[in-house]
Order: sequence, then C-alpha cells, then structure tokens
Amino acid sequence: VQDGDRDADGLTGEQRALLASLDRLLDRHLPIEAVRRHDAEHSPPNDLMPRLAEIGLMALAVPEDDGGLPAPAGGRQATLALVQERLGRRGFMAAALYNRITAFGIASLRAAGSAEQRADWLPRLIAGTASFSLALTEPGAGSDAGALATRAVPDDGGGWRITGRKTWISGADTADRLVVAARTDPESRGGRGVGLFLVPPDAPGLAMTPLAKVGNNASRSFDIGFDGVAVTQADRLGPADGGFGVLKATLAAARLGLAAAVVGSAQQAVDLALAHAGDRVQFGRPVGAFQAIAHRLVDMQTEVDLARLMVRDGARRIDAGAPADRIAAQAKLVATETLQRVADRGMQILASAGYAAESDMQRIWRDARLYTFGEGSSEILRDLIGRDLGVGAALGSERGGRP
Ligand SMILES: Cc1cc2nc3c(=O)[nH]c(=O)nc-3n(C[C@H](O)[C@H](O)[C@H](O)COP(=O)(O)OP(=O)(O)OC[C@H]3O[C@@H](n4cnc5c(N)ncnc54)[C@H](O)[C@@H]3O)c2cc1C
Repeated sequence: VQDGDRDADGLTGEQRALLASLDRLLDRHLPIEAVRRHDAEHSPPNDLMPRLAEIGLMALAVPEDDGGLPAPAGGRQATLALVQERLGRRGFMAAALYNRITAFGIASLRAAGSAEQRADWLPRLIAGTASFSLALTEPGAGSDAGALATRAVPDDGGGWRITGRKTWISGADTADRLVVAARTDPESRGGRGVGLFLVPPDAPGLAMTPLAKVGNNASRSFDIGFDGVAVTQADRLGPADGGFGVLKATLAAARLGLAAAVVGSAQQAVDLALAHAGDRVQFGRPVGAFQAIAHRLVDMQTEVDLARLMVRDGARRIDAGAPADRIAAQAKLVATETLQRVADRGMQILASAGYAAESDMQRIWRDARLYTFGEGSSEILRDLIGRDLGVGAALGSERGGRP
C-alpha cells in the first residue's frame, strides 16, 4: 500500500470502502430502532449475519487456505478491529454475535479443527449461517476456569459421554454448536486433562434454562445441564487433554474483538452525551456550555481516543507477528474500563433523559457492566499481563488453571 492511500486516521482506501459498505448495510438492516427492539424483545440480530457475510466480513477472518480472503493491505486483524469498532458503535449486539462467530467459531477451528471439522463448519461460518458459543464457565469455575468439573468419559462405542453443568453460556439457544470444555482425565487438575467438544444444543441429555440478567439482553444466557450427552471422537476439537491450549487462541481473538467493539460502544456513548449537552438547555444555556460538563466531555473523548489507539496498535502488532495474548488482554483491560467510566459519565450528563427506559445511554451503561469481568475479568487480565512482565503470583500457570 502506498502511504498516499491512507487517510489521516491511517485507514487504507480498501478499509474505508469496507466500512462504508458496512454503514450502508447497518443503515438498512440495523437502524437504531431495530437495536432498541432487539434489546426489548431479548432477540439476537441473527438475520444480520448472512448480510455481513455477503460483504465479506466473515471471510475476512479466514485466510485463503481455509476458504477465506487474502489479508487486506491494511492487515487482517487491523481490519477486523475496524469492523468490530464500527459494529460496536452502531449496535453492540451485532458485534457480540459477530465476535462469537469469528472467535469461538473461526479462531477455534483454525487453532485446532480437524480437516473434516473445518470442511464441515468453516463454509457455514463464512456464510454467516452458523454460529458457535463457548461453554466454559461453571457454577464452581468462573475466573478459575481450571476448577471445571464437567466430565467427558469414554463410552463403549469409541465416543464420549459428557456430564456436568455449565452456566452463563451466551447465545446457546441459537448456536449450531457449543464448544464445551470438559475434563477428560479424572486424575487431572487445573487446565491439564481438559478437552473441547463440539456439541449440538439440541443433543439428548442437554437441558437449557435461560437466566434473567441486567443487560446484553439481545444475547440470551443459559444455565446448561449435561446428563450423559453422547459425542463422537469426530466431535472433539483438538487434543483430548489440550483444550486449554486451544482456548488461549480463541480467547485472544475474542478479547481483541471485544476490545474493539467496546471502543465503538464508548464512542457511541460520547456521541450521545455530546448531542445531549448541545440540546438540553438549563439556566438559559445548553448544559454543554457549563465548564463542568464540557471538561467531562473532553475527558471522555480523550479516553476513548486513547483506548482506540491501544486497540488499533495492538491489532497492527498482531498482524506484524507479535504474540496476541498480552496485547489482547491489555486492549480489553483498557477498552472495557474506559467504556465503563464513559458510560457512567454519559449517564450523569443525560441525567433523567438517560435513565428513561427508551434511552440508548442506559442500554450502553447496563451492557457495559459486563465487559470488565466477562471473558476474563480485569483482575485476571492484570494477573495474565503481570505473568508476562514476570511479576505477581503465577496462580494460573502453576496449576495450568487458566487459558
Ligand atoms: C452476561 C454474561 C454472559 C456470559 N457469557 C459466557 C459465555 O458465553 N461462556 C462462558 O463460558 N462464560 C460466560 N460468562 C461467564 C463469565 O466469563 C464469568 O462471569 C467470568 O469468567 C467471571 O467469573 P465469575 O462471574 O464466576 O466471577 P468469579 O470468578 O467468582 O470472581 C469474583 C471476583 O473475584 C475476582 N477474582 C477471582 N479470582 C481472582 C484472583 N486470582 N485474583 C484477583 N481477583 C480475583 C474476579 O475478578 C471478580 O472480581 C458470562 C457471564 C455473564 C454475566
């Protein structure tokens, strides 16, 4: 790419054209009214996924050797991050669904899928007609994922029987496969002796109960019981005892995608607060004319710009070959904590207008509360980054307890 092709933000012409197509598509198929409706009705925007696929957004996550697209001149991860950011700004629920397809589906299969699994699933994921959910968390295993107790026991027919309970599994009702982490070696502890299995959500012996929650309503979450659920050898994803190794790649992809989407959501919160500060008149002036509000808005935008830099630079470095774990952890840490601050200040600036049920700010604020603990809490991410810096207790690495 010629430097001349890049705009002031460093985007290539190809990236700008892709985002323009995405904007047109979202104008038509996910206007803000649809975002509100999906939230109110607790329904995911699944129909949008094949449309995103039509403009190549799923294929963007897959290299050519697996039926995807060559890396764009601006870099594959960098371009994916731009897409995620735009989805997050227009309707975070779409970004969440897209991230499940690209991380739990595509990144997992790319990391460990057999030739058959890739041939079977990648075309459908690339077409946006299939999605995967990750079933890792259990009642007794949240941050300490290595405490998982769900068991996969070999059966007489050469397959496995899965028994246990998973909780807070998002999108499980509409997923085509759950990526289920289960202990294959009963003697093992921590992350060792854990395998991953691709399980259809309608498998006999699997029972789902929806959970009531504060936000992220368009993506329903479930408690899932497994009572001797039968899977075949062909359903195992990666080595029988190497599931946590596969999850490292999956979670790095998920965290980077989430971080980018969260930057978009934070920008949406700033946009809403700026608009309100210009419109709402008190004491004869728009509230944005008061320095207390103006400075707050300046800080909000500056923090979002910083988080965006962190995410975009991280994606660029991954494209250049840097290991993704720490970059993705740092990006998620910064972006999610930024969004939480910005959404909270946005609520303060909108005041009663933000607290109204029809306000977009309250949805962003409710949804934002999840991201500093979902997919690796800020505390656990600091631990992971600390391990990379050579400081802190090696909790996870000692016991192989965390992906
Ligand atoms: C809406 C929603 C959707 C979700 N979707 C999914 C999904 O699709 N798939 C899935 O598998 N899971 C999912 N989860 C689960 C999510 O990933 C967990 O909530 C998360 O891993 C944290 O686990 P926990 O809630 O059990 O908190 P806990 O692990 O109980 O942690 C409680 C607190 O202690 C802190 N803490 C724990 N250990 C340490 C430590 N060693 N050092 C310092 N602090 C520590 C934590 O950071 C946290 O602040 C979802 C959760 C929610 C709420």
